[in-house]
Amino acid sequence: MYEASFNEAAIARQERRILMQNNEKLRVGIIGATGMVGQRFITLLENHPYFEITALMASKRSAGKTYREALAGGWKLTTPCPEWVLDMEVMDAEGVSGVAPLVDFVFCAVNMPKADVLALEELYAKAEIPVVSNNSANRWTPDVPMVIPEINREHLSVIEAQRARLGTKRGFIAVKPNCSIQSYVGALTPLRKYGIKEIVATTYQAISGAGKTFAEWPEMIDNVIPFIGGEEEKSEREPLRVWGDVVGGEIVPAKEPVITTQCLRVPETDGHMAAVNERFENKPEKEEIIKAWKEYKGVPQELMLPSAPEQFLTYFEEENRPQTKCDRDLFGGMGVSIGRLRPDTVYDYKFVALSHNTVRGAAGGAVLIAELLYREGYITKAQIEKLSN
Ligand code: NAP
Repeated sequence: MYEASFNEAAIARQERRILMQNNEKLRVGIIGATGMVGQRFITLLENHPYFEITALMASKRSAGKTYREALAGGWKLTTPCPEWVLDMEVMDAEGVSGVAPLVDFVFCAVNMPKADVLALEELYAKAEIPVVSNNSANRWTPDVPMVIPEINREHLSVIEAQRARLGTKRGFIAVKPNCSIQSYVGALTPLRKYGIKEIVATTYQAISGAGKTFAEWPEMIDNVIPFIGGEEEKSEREPLRVWGDVVGGEIVPAKEPVITTQCLRVPETDGHMAAVNERFENKPEKEEIIKAWKEYKGVPQELMLPSAPEQFLTYFEEENRPQTKCDRDLFGGMGVSIGRLRPDTVYDYKFVALSHNTVRGAAGGAVLIAELLYREGYITKAQIEKLSN
């Protein structure tokens, strides 16, 4: 765990220094701008203090159209699209040489085969454009950090090894873990000191997780589908990488706990809930667990990053909370809600946790990673670097 002491004045000084050095915001491009996650990036980056949108990319189907034409009425969020974005031209995601002069880094959230995503993200990184990705393709590349900033900020250190492998000076890829794990990995992280041995997690996942609305997916109305392709494997494996160690420029996944999951698609717009049972090596008291949740702070809170929730984990005492509709937008959708902690008849305890899948679990989580990368000096203004080289 990073040990920066909380010091508002020092942070403010550092912030001013960075902004003065750069003189303006970092220019960011969004690959997959027309999709569900891409649209969420657009709303989250409107008036962002560090970043401004300067390029939108999507498939060849959208390339050359205005964003308004490319969407063709398919704006999926309740927050409206900023007017000025609607008139921007969408570029072909593969046209890296055209994008490069316009951006300092890119976010990537595309629906493409894994091999194509690997090639696309590496294309950008090798063109010296840092990539902060929502896609799963690079989550198991040993020198690609997969980060929840409140949990494993130290994994960013593998970026240097990755740059050496790619032969780049500033280009690299950093990824965000799957949306399904964001609630229970957040909740369980402060409890790892008690030696978590086994986890059973059942997730109840919103339809926006498939990039869909009810209008596009009417079969989901009044229905539950007990299958989400590849999701259970990700939900069981990815927590171990988040909890892993950096060894010789690579992330080595943790060996414990044993994790089993079932992932269900349920009829709600946004918000992934998880029902979790767990067994400990040294079973804590219920009060100790709640105290650990209430007191947990990560680097984003210490650095007061713009997208950091004031409180990463919030425990609700009411027995009918958290609820998807009421609580998914906690701290702008960046907070994790927890409730119903109680003893279990088979395991030690059980509880319920919730996170917003397209904010904390996708675009918001990626923006928070980018804010951390910026503050830690991994992402900088492209021209300033060129001048100082
Ligand atoms: P989506 O709504 O289906 O959007 C897909 C985007 O990919 C569109 O912008 C599309 O552009 C673009 N695209 C498709 N083929 C392309 C190609 N050949 N070249 C360039 N761009 C192409 O999907 P989504 O829900 O936003 O998800 C995007 C990624 O984020 C996926 O990897 C997903 O697993 C991940 N993710 C999603 C969530 C979530 O809650 N939705 C959470 C975490 C992670 P066109 O409009 O031009 O086709």
